[in-house]
Amino acid sequence: MRMSELIRKKRDGEELNQAEIDFLIKGCLGGRVPDYQVTAWLMAVYFRGLTVAETVSLTKAMIASGSIINLEDIPGPKVDKHSTGGVGDKTTLIVAPLTAAAGLKIAKMAGAALGFTGGTIDKLRSIPGFNPFLDQEQFKRCLNETGLAIIGGSEHLVPADKKIYALRDVTATVESIPLIASSVMSKKLAAGADAIVLDVKVGEGAFVKTLDEARRLAKLMIELGTAMGKKVRALISNMEQPLGRAVGNSIEVIEAVQVLKGEGPEDVRRLCIELGAEMLLLGKRTEDMEAARKLLSELLDSQAGFKKLQQMVASQGGEENALTEFSLLPQSKFTCQISSTSSGYIQQLSARAIGQAAAWLGAGREKADDVVDYSAGILLHKKVGDSVQAGDSLATIYFNDEAKRAEAEMMIKNAYVVEGIPVQSPLLILDRI
Ligand code: URA
Repeated sequence: MRMSELIRKKRDGEELNQAEIDFLIKGCLGGRVPDYQVTAWLMAVYFRGLTVAETVSLTKAMIASGSIINLEDIPGPKVDKHSTGGVGDKTTLIVAPLTAAAGLKIAKMAGAALGFTGGTIDKLRSIPGFNPFLDQEQFKRCLNETGLAIIGGSEHLVPADKKIYALRDVTATVESIPLIASSVMSKKLAAGADAIVLDVKVGEGAFVKTLDEARRLAKLMIELGTAMGKKVRALISNMEQPLGRAVGNSIEVIEAVQVLKGEGPEDVRRLCIELGAEMLLLGKRTEDMEAARKLLSELLDSQAGFKKLQQMVASQGGEENALTEFSLLPQSKFTCQISSTSSGYIQQLSARAIGQAAAWLGAGREKADDVVDYSAGILLHKKVGDSVQAGDSLATIYFNDEAKRAEAEMMIKNAYVVEGIPVQSPLLILDRI
């Protein structure tokens, strides 16, 4: 088989079979297919798409590139959740312990920040000592002990996704529906859960921009999961503005703790309850959505979910006291207020621009091997629909490099659109599939 012929086929809109896709994935990991040919193929996919059969083949080949976690010997329904990537999205830190407190087994493989989107693994790594790189036995031990374990991708689990995602990130080929679907679902299927709830983000701060694309992505991921015997449901949620008020790593851990203690921003609480309720239903923990929502609200207000987060952090080697004494989390040297230059109502708050500003301050990665500054971030004081007076603080930034301040200030000011007309805050949940 010749890789140049596979690139040509995709360039001309022809369909590749399983053997051809296996050749590509094995070759890309084994060094027989150089990165420049893989990226040429990815760009052809970006323009030509993949058929459902090709997407299934790609997902299977990616899963087969590493080991698969077998959770059959762990009793009870094992449920996972995944977001397609957003800004300020700390839902996993809340939903995972909350649904574990409700009796589910949460076996989760999460990702790191890339580009303007944040990643659960970096947020968790801001907790001193926390280890997301467990081997299969440790993962299962934590899952048995606390009902909850969260790990990152490794050279053992779906290494092909790790490699291909890094290539997509630097070749403008992330925003492809079949490539996103196979990337997300290969990780979910390898991590061994029986049921999966997907949070498909839509808007300018997400990888899909329109509701129509988000529905297509959700349906494709459900099709991939069901073809492999899993129960899958998806919510489509708005990512025009960041979720909650905190964007960064340790700062998002703090906001997650606040929500788990029955406080924190309303949009984060609402989305977590909706995602969690879908998980309880799939895991057959409650009969209907209303009962699930009620149970989850009680577990938030009683702090049972918070206690579960403490247990998980301790069982994965982290400093659980950092969840009550925030001074034990990484602290930035500098803070600065970003003030509004005009009065009116916040019409827009660009999630993408805020994500880029947070990454610029050090909270994210431009390249896969960049070192993340866990203390850097942005706290938003104004969101869409809020009124603002000239001179009011729009946001506080946390940073360690003075040279970054002026550019970050400009990026954040440009992220806001302030005008005289009052506006409603936008709908958060746009569809369920
Ligand atoms: N999240 C993933 O895991 N993969 C993608 O391609 C996009 C978002």
